[in-house]
Amino acid sequence: MKTVAFIGLGNMGGPMAANLVKANYNVKGFDLSDDAKAHARENGVEIIETVEEAVGVADAVITMLPAGKHLLSVYEVTLKAAKAGTLFIDCSTVDVDSSRTAHTAADEAGMLSLDAPVSGGVGGATAGTLTFMAGGSKEAFDKAHELLDVMGGKIVHCGGNGNGQAAKICNNMILGISMIASSEAFNLADKLGLDKQALFDVASTSSGQCWSINTYCPVPGPVPTSPANNDYEPGFAAALMLKDLKLSQDAAKSSGVSTPLGSHAEELYQSFNDAGGSGTDFSGIIKFLKGEK
Ligand code: NAD
Repeated sequence: MKTVAFIGLGNMGGPMAANLVKANYNVKGFDLSDDAKAHARENGVEIIETVEEAVGVADAVITMLPAGKHLLSVYEVTLKAAKAGTLFIDCSTVDVDSSRTAHTAADEAGMLSLDAPVSGGVGGATAGTLTFMAGGSKEAFDKAHELLDVMGGKIVHCGGNGNGQAAKICNNMILGISMIASSEAFNLADKLGLDKQALFDVASTSSGQCWSINTYCPVPGPVPTSPANNDYEPGFAAALMLKDLKLSQDAAKSSGVSTPLGSHAEELYQSFNDAGGSGTDFSGIIKFLKGEK
């Protein structure tokens, strides 16, 4: 594969496309935002004025868009413009139903398709160390591997159509719940006169250990790289955590699964976002839970 159309050149798509350019792919980019286009152009992406033009000559089409409705509207146009057999890779985080609808449309148009949402944030997108969770046929997965390998550090094939999205929202439901649990524990420890470093030293090596404590501790000090040390600058914004929790709860409702803690985590992140936390890192919920701004 030589030519890649990249649609959605925002915070994540911009640096992902730039890494493909660095790996000598011919990247034709499209976005609705002038700023995103200008930035991508500076990174060597050839900006194309219509999405049809970007896709018509491509061997693979990568999308990195805000939500399912954007994905489906972009696929409506691009599936008509692409050559038969083109590989479509959607890296956006979208609802499982939209993802599966997009796969079906791609199948019907004679294309190969993969959902491949990511974890690792803007830092991982820039460094080319994203984790990809992929759903789709083995043929699509094998074909996509060389491109995902350029943009990521770990690539997991999670099964059939939409299973990458399923893995992403299940993982992030765990993360939202565990960040709230970790924050509650540090707030309680503080009131009990227990030093945060002492709690960290115990919990990070005992049965309470989890990524939200060991790698992304919500209090300043114990993990110097966590956003708590940088006034909760994201990182991973609380608005994106809320988006992913909503997707998990929509999926839980539509499949009839009980997820009471996932549901409560969504409510708490909704309140945190409504109180002005949407642009701060999701670990900033510790201050909201304490009643601080
Ligand atoms: P973003 O808003 O910065 O970028 C999205 C881009 O898509 C924008 O530039 C927008 O103009 C463009 N766009 C929207 N509709 C379009 C259309 N019809 N045609 C062409 N371009 C269009 O968002 P982001 O932070 O880059 O996130 C992209 C996706 O990655 C989201 O689904 C998000 O949930 C997911 N994600 C983000 C992060 C993160 O840390 N930012 C981490 C993991 C996953």
